[in-house]
Amino acid sequence: MSTAIADSAFAPGPLFDRVAIVGIGLIGSSLARALTEYGIARQVVCADRSADACAKALELGIVAEASTDPATALAGAELVVLATPVGSYATVGEAIGPLLTPGTIVTDVGSVKQATLRDIGPHLPDGVPLIPGHPVAGTEHSGPEAGFASLFQGRWCILTPPSGADQQALDRVTEMWRRVGSTVEIMEASHHDRVLAITSHLPHLIAYTIVGTASDLEEDTKSEVIKFSAGGFRDFTRIAASDPVMWRDIFLNNREAVLEILQRFTEDLTALQRSIRWGEGEHLQEHFTKTRAVRRGIIDAKQA
Ligand code: NAP
Repeated sequence: MSTAIADSAFAPGPLFDRVAIVGIGLIGSSLARALTEYGIARQVVCADRSADACAKALELGIVAEASTDPATALAGAELVVLATPVGSYATVGEAIGPLLTPGTIVTDVGSVKQATLRDIGPHLPDGVPLIPGHPVAGTEHSGPEAGFASLFQGRWCILTPPSGADQQALDRVTEMWRRVGSTVEIMEASHHDRVLAITSHLPHLIAYTIVGTASDLEEDTKSEVIKFSAGGFRDFTRIAASDPVMWRDIFLNNREAVLEILQRFTEDLTALQRSIRWGEGEHLQEHFTKTRAVRRGIIDAKQA
């Protein structure tokens, strides 16, 4: 289903002359910083629909040029990186398609991958390869101020090229992610979406639910919730503080996989509920022992 990548054959020195990033938020600005700081691109520019984000990116020195007009940013770019919420892809694809010239590579950082092929693919002219990507790295913060160059270090980046994708384009995008410190894995887009439904999308949905339930409680209980949040709740509040637009788009664009995994989760939750009701301590302990081993595996894999 997935393929590990062989060692790099690229010479040192910049991989790209000009990279245009569309959407200079947390992920776009982190990549822009890394591309410049690690000498991966000679020039990094951006387009963002938010004039404030453009001004901030320039003020912070993250990009050489910033514009609300994608035509300005895309002119002469060898690589275009889409870093806007997944729900904007059809609009963004329509806007940038006519601006692209053969030879330019298009990639993205979206958290759902079938949507990239569906919403961006049809807008690209012949000779413009699309290499969808997802850096499995992030924080609960948004905007250009929130980014930092080391965000991708020691993290996975999953690439989901369509069958028959341009090999040279795939190699260059792979090398870019390696140079920002990530380990690249190649996967089919549908497999990516199923895997991320359980490892990322469901945990966020659970966090949004728990924090929502707590905030619906009576006023005094709510203050107790905040006071004693170290008892596990605090970690959920961090996850549930993630960007609302980004997460709305993830659930709407990975609907089938999320609903399928949610069904499995509901069954498993009901089984635990039953064990609590019937005092089946042995079953509970066995289950919690298994989950503790999962945590240790993640720490051993240096993904904690
Ligand atoms: P972010 O900080 O909210 O930044 C997104 C930027 O894109 C904002 O400046 C936004 O402007 C702009 N934008 C939205 N729609 C646009 C459009 N139609 N045209 C041009 N610019 C537009 O978001 P982020 O966290 O960096 O996420 C960006 C992408 O990375 C998403 O696809 C997400 O799924 C993916 N991702 C995120 C994480 C994470 O942990 N955050 C991790 C991995 C991948 P406005 O402020 O005006 O909306």
